[in-house]
Amino acid sequence: MADAIVIGGGVMGLAASRELRRRGYTVTLLERAKPGRAASWASAGIVGATLRDESDPSYHLRRVSRELWPAFADAVYSESGMDPEYREMGCIQLASDGDELLALQRAARRQRGNETTNEQPNGEPAPELLDPKQLRELEPALSANLAGGLLVPGGNVDNRRLCKALEIAARRAGVQIETGVEVVSVTTTGGKVSGVDISPRSAPALHRAVGEGSGALGHGSSTHSAAVGEGGGAHDHGSSTHSPAVGEGSGALGHGTSTIRGSSEFRRGADLVLLAAGAWSANIANLRPVPPIAPQRGQILALDQSSVGVRHVLLTPGDPYFVPRADGRLAIGATREEAGWDPSLTAGGIAWLLNRAMDVVPALQDCPIAEMWTGFRPASADGLPLIGQGGYDGLYFLTGHGPSGIAPLPGSIALLMALIHNEPPPLPADAFNPRRFENRGQAA
Ligand SMILES: Cc1cc2nc3c(=O)[nH]c(=O)nc-3n(C[C@H](O)[C@H](O)[C@H](O)COP(=O)(O)OP(=O)(O)OC[C@H]3O[C@@H](n4cnc5c(N)ncnc54)[C@H](O)[C@@H]3O)c2cc1C
Repeated sequence: MADAIVIGGGVMGLAASRELRRRGYTVTLLERAKPGRAASWASAGIVGATLRDESDPSYHLRRVSRELWPAFADAVYSESGMDPEYREMGCIQLASDGDELLALQRAARRQRGNETTNEQPNGEPAPELLDPKQLRELEPALSANLAGGLLVPGGNVDNRRLCKALEIAARRAGVQIETGVEVVSVTTTGGKVSGVDISPRSAPALHRAVGEGSGALGHGSSTHSAAVGEGGGAHDHGSSTHSPAVGEGSGALGHGTSTIRGSSEFRRGADLVLLAAGAWSANIANLRPVPPIAPQRGQILALDQSSVGVRHVLLTPGDPYFVPRADGRLAIGATREEAGWDPSLTAGGIAWLLNRAMDVVPALQDCPIAEMWTGFRPASADGLPLIGQGGYDGLYFLTGHGPSGIAPLPGSIALLMALIHNEPPPLPADAFNPRRFENRGQAA
């Protein structure tokens, strides 16, 4: 079986490595910093709220993922011993005026498919329209000014725990995870992938990672998450750097892939290379196609809502959304900004989130702020992820999930595996084909 290199240790790279390993590959995951500390860490972790729209390709990805999520979460839990806290508490879409309520009523009719049943065509419970009284029976802290709501199936996963659980599961399955290793280019021979080149800066970062615990995070590229208050910065949150191979002398460069020493000291060979580098995907040279992916900044915060007790995921048109966590926090997110690689929290961004949040749930005004942070969503040019083979044999893409990259995780992995192994795909795949961007030019 071919050896595989996976570039990037977010949820996409971690989950794909785990699955490739389960299918018998020797897998090396190369992560520039630490696994699970970029967008996948910054996320709110909403899963679900799958409103039916057959014409939207991402609906099918979310639908298949919704079906897979419970078993996926259970499997990751049992393999890692760490509960990712996947919970289906339901999502309520809120309407603040008559127009928004009409839109929800239309959505409810579309969802039902058949007015006489309590199920949607996909077997999920039909969405339930709520008048203001019913709304406040379910969520007593909601503003009395809201016009109504729509309760839809869905919930959330604690994405930070999920990242860690996936990392443990992947390592236990035998995936070699190398931290502090930045891929700079994909290498090819005669139209086929042969491996990757890594940055010479990667080697010292590896040594720092072992000796100092968090050293790998300082090197190279931009800071991609900032945090304030409890929980600390994204860069030392959660701690240990996992790079066992380095300290043991075998080096992170062995196992599963070949390292060519001498003039090619920073070259690794593999028959399959999977790009899962999130918002940074376009920075890697010699990709075909060059993925049109840009960072979209999201500012987000968490309040300690022990005294309030919101229980459902709450969604408002145009945001913010509210995500209750098992630990008593309420995540409130998120801005959607084109700010380049600037990871700053801004006064305007945080004020916007807090003011809108207190309009919807007035009692939040007394809650302590637990944490504020930012992350970069990997936003693709057409809003759809890139899943499948690229322009070289053996080059695969799993990136560009933008604002929705936790919810469609299991479906994305299932689709990718089907495409790699020529199996029937679990959903229509064409809209996600990375080669749809091929006419945008090729890297040198
Ligand atoms: C504020 C915010 C809220 C969100 N809320 C939700 C939500 O509620 N629900 C939902 O479904 N989605 C949400 N998302 C989106 C979701 O988090 C992302 O789509 C998803 O996490 C992307 O995962 P990824 O693995 O592709 O990228 P990332 O998690 O960013 O991982 C990419 C990894 O690649 C590494 N890397 C990059 N370049 C290189 C290189 N050259 N060499 C080696 N490694 C490299 C990075 O260091 C990083 O670890 C949210 C995102 C944000 C920012």
